[in-house]
Amino acid sequence: MKIKFENLGKHFNGKGGRVHALKNIELEVKDGEFFILLGPSGCGKSTLLNLAAGLEKATEGRILFDDEVVADPKKKIFVPPRQRNVAMVFQNYALYPHMKVFENIAFPLRVAKMEKEKINEAVNNTAALLGIEDLLDRKPGELSGGQRQRVAISRALVRRPRVFLLDEPLSNLDAQLRTSTRAELKELQNELGITTLYVTHDQTEAMTLGDRVALLRNGEVMQVGGPEELYNSPVTPFVATFIGSPSMNLIPAEKKGDQEIEIEGVRFDLTEKQAEDIGKIKSKEVLVGIRPEKISLSPGEQDQENASENGRITLKGELSTVEPLGREILYHVGIECCEVLALSGEMEVKRGEEMYFSFDAEDIHLFDAETMDDQTRKQMQSGLSKENRKKIKKQSAV
Ligand code: ADP
Ligand code: MG
Repeated sequence: MKIKFENLGKHFNGKGGRVHALKNIELEVKDGEFFILLGPSGCGKSTLLNLAAGLEKATEGRILFDDEVVADPKKKIFVPPRQRNVAMVFQNYALYPHMKVFENIAFPLRVAKMEKEKINEAVNNTAALLGIEDLLDRKPGELSGGQRQRVAISRALVRRPRVFLLDEPLSNLDAQLRTSTRAELKELQNELGITTLYVTHDQTEAMTLGDRVALLRNGEVMQVGGPEELYNSPVTPFVATFIGSPSMNLIPAEKKGDQEIEIEGVRFDLTEKQAEDIGKIKSKEVLVGIRPEKISLSPGEQDQENASENGRITLKGELSTVEPLGREILYHVGIECCEVLALSGEMEVKRGEEMYFSFDAEDIHLFDAETMDDQTRKQMQSGLSKENRKKIKKQSAV
């Protein structure tokens, strides 16, 4: 079944005043799709999921399940949750503590007055699907977090709903279990082919699970697309820095003519496509986005005469912090404007020492500096100031 949100809006009239939780949401989830609602805390993800479930009422716009309008406040249409045939799973499992696992899973079928035989069959089948056949006689208090979440998922799926809605279902699990459950969930959804809306604030989860992802901020959709599209072609600095870990670097630069830009005193040519992108930017100030994994580092003295040769740009900086991440090392390199993050192997450089970093001109993303929001700016400026870098330099010299 497909789900369509048309110009959807939601206001809350809370104690602290009116909250515009969702604005002009236009989304279409395809039949059988695994669709992710991603964004920082408070951006409206749960609200949108609750509107789809019918747990909240929209204030503007419409929701359609296939061709059936399930919510349209203007026409006073509101199909209650039970009639929508959706199933929901929450972060906190929401199981009945006094009931055995079997009864927890059977609950929605008992409510629907299904025959006893059929209930037995459906519960056993679903439990087998989730690998919890052996737990049916236990109570939720006797289960681990991962097992409880499987029970919650079984209970949601036992009715074979038209839509499967999940609100941060893996957030309470430890890292290892989260990864394995994630893979299982993806497989299960694929197998069952139920249209799924999945809420998360975790971009890794979104990228690995989603057929498509909608990134939200302050109640608005910032970008919709496949994981690769969001990663490779972010439309704003916010999307660029939210997707990918560690975050994409954003370095202020200046437009020089149609095909050239200058970054920290180094001029270089743009590709045709980039020139086209930059043509759309009105202001002279641009942001050059470059992912940490696209930067290569080299220590010590280097000839800066050829700072932009063969489509490669070389900039000088000073090493401020080194973070070993296991397989790779994250280097923080201070330059005039800010701090640049680079992923690399081990190097013979000490903190406070000069070093060079370079990247291919074709790997950069270009943004209008004016489209940068305060949140992203703050994130960018959280790099060390020049003074702090001097301090570190002194300390590391001791
Ligand atoms: P998310 O799930 O992305 O963290 P929510 O959808 O829960 O965000 O919340 C979006 C915004 O709506 C927040 O500003 C939140 O405070 C507000 N909000 C959510 N539910 C209510 C409510 N019942 N009453 C008032 N404000 C609410
Ligand atoms: Mg939420």
